[in-house]
Amino acid sequence: MHFAARRPVCERTFVRSEATILHADLDAFYASVEQRDDPRLRGRPVIVGPGVVLAASYEARAYGVRSAMGAAQARRRCPRAIVVEARWEAYLDASKVVFEVFAQTAPVVEKLSIDEAFLDVAGLRRFAGSPTDIAARLRREVREKAGLPITVGVATTRLLAKVASGVAKPDGLLVVPPGGELAFLHPLRVERLWGVGPATAAKLYDRGVTTVGEAAQLGEPALVEILGRASGRRLHALAHNRDPRPVRMRRGRRSFGSQSAFNWSSRSHAALDARVVALVDRVTRRMRTAGRVGRTVVLRLRFDDFTRASRSRTLSRPTAATEPILITVRELLEAAMPMIRRQGLTLVGVTVQNLDGDGAAVQLELPFDGPGRSALDAVLDDVRDRYGSDAVTRAALLGGDPGLSASLLPE
Ligand SMILES: [Mg+2]
Repeated sequence: MHFAARRPVCERTFVRSEATILHADLDAFYASVEQRDDPRLRGRPVIVGPGVVLAASYEARAYGVRSAMGAAQARRRCPRAIVVEARWEAYLDASKVVFEVFAQTAPVVEKLSIDEAFLDVAGLRRFAGSPTDIAARLRREVREKAGLPITVGVATTRLLAKVASGVAKPDGLLVVPPGGELAFLHPLRVERLWGVGPATAAKLYDRGVTTVGEAAQLGEPALVEILGRASGRRLHALAHNRDPRPVRMRRGRRSFGSQSAFNWSSRSHAALDARVVALVDRVTRRMRTAGRVGRTVVLRLRFDDFTRASRSRTLSRPTAATEPILITVRELLEAAMPMIRRQGLTLVGVTVQNLDGDGAAVQLELPFDGPGRSALDAVLDDVRDRYGSDAVTRAALLGGDPGLSASLLPE
């Protein structure tokens, strides 16, 4: 009463700085589904593969097994591990159940991947309880309905909620109270920050920076000098917990596209094909991450005289898989080759439009139903998610795949 009478704006300020953003992330998702479905695997080191490690149970992680590790290395570290083959259908089903729980928990759910999302629970206190209550209930419901452990971080920003869940794993709940953000964040190692992978971390270690607090002290100019402009600025913002982006549904996206400058003067079809492969890779990967599929494939070209042309084809069914989209783009490119030979080429782009679910609420959208994502795509996505997009390079990008580009070679 006194409080409100003395400073009428206080309540509003308080609501804004309340920790209402949840980051919910299933623990060792694929491995947990396997342990759920086969009691013999429970409590034992489980690796989902084969080949590259797609997921490792916490029992396997205790031996140093990590996602994206090669099978041989994983076996050396944990010879007793049970290796099971990935069952994508089971993972998609489980994800669907979990996202239904998310949708019932909060009005705004931002999907990050098949097994994690941000939820904003602002304004729900009166009928659903505090954010901490809601997070605890969410964990219980995921356990009951999907049979899976999930960790939730709660904080005032997306960044911090994600860091909190990372610290709380596995099967945990961690709330970072408003005002306590930097005290929580600064002692942590820099790798805890979103997007700081081994390469970035190594550069920071070289300068004697191992904690977030040390990175924050370094200041923006120094971080820019070490990491480059974009990364340096971003890290500086993150280290000060500056992440003003709200949780949002990301609805209404109409297309996914990527383009790249290209100088045709080299007249190398192999180089052009490699560029196209990279573009398709990037576009389809983003579609799969966003859980979208599309039907119309567009090849965009810009010529030496800055005129532009586009060629498109609509597929019989929507997809987010690399292969059918790449085949289509190559066909379009082949048909455009006479024009490119005549007019040169300065820019090439690939867009996929005519997306499934355009304009509809997408909070339950799930990635790659059926043909959306092949097992290979899934492996590549997984490795890149963890180690950056340069971790895996398709053969054609290395110029090692002449067979695939042969059809574009001049007579
Ligand atoms: Mg996860």
